[in-house]
Amino acid sequence: MRNHPRIAVITFGLILGGLVQPAAGDPLRLGSTAPGQPVVITYSYSNLLDGTFLLMEPALLRAATEEALGLWAAFAPLHFVEQPDSGPPASDGSYPASGTPQIRIGHHPTVTAAHAFYPNDVDGLGGDIHLDSGGAWNLGDGPWNFLETITHELGHSLGLDHELDVLAIMNPFYPQQRFTSLGTGFLYPADIEQLRSIYGSGRGSVTPLDPTPEPGTLLLAASGIALLAYRRRRSAGRSG
Ligand SMILES: [Zn+2]
Ligand SMILES: [Zn+2]
Repeated sequence: MRNHPRIAVITFGLILGGLVQPAAGDPLRLGSTAPGQPVVITYSYSNLLDGTFLLMEPALLRAATEEALGLWAAFAPLHFVEQPDSGPPASDGSYPASGTPQIRIGHHPTVTAAHAFYPNDVDGLGGDIHLDSGGAWNLGDGPWNFLETITHELGHSLGLDHELDVLAIMNPFYPQQRFTSLGTGFLYPADIEQLRSIYGSGRGSVTPLDPTPEPGTLLLAASGIALLAYRRRRSAGRSG
């Protein structure tokens, strides 16, 4: 297993911070299997769903994150598996990689909208994604588009670099207003090409710990409970 001693932080969003390129040589990648072979990548929400990440419901954050993971998993054999979070609170301090999920998604006050860390075998920060705690995050268009930002940052977590000369989600200079709601995410050919140069072609999956019920299912369950209560009341009324 190769070690990558340099930890690179990539920024995205309103202000582009200093971009640290990964070490030259072999592409950085999460997992140690050969390109084209299935790779399991663990992820968790460190503090993203703690209810303090402004303006967005945890269920929406989860749904958008799962959609973004699914975009990358549609073109390479990446199997994302959610784990309970473990490790230190979200910050840019290094910590040991062993025993923690590979991609931990959280928030803390940042000078840019978001940043991510390239894969790293030793430092737990490798693969992690941090979004700005105070951002006006939303799922509509605009610079604080959570779905678009998390898709871009996941690219870095997987080892993808910026695409500076072509249309790409990994192009940080192109207007970031392409996704307009849940279900509208996509990748450009340049993103897919770079992904496949690292992981090969194939199809992966996304396995959340606690799948988000569809709104329709929730409604059905709620009405079912209401109906049951009504019947109980009626039968109680009849017998009493
Ligand atoms: Zn970036
Ligand atoms: Zn950070």
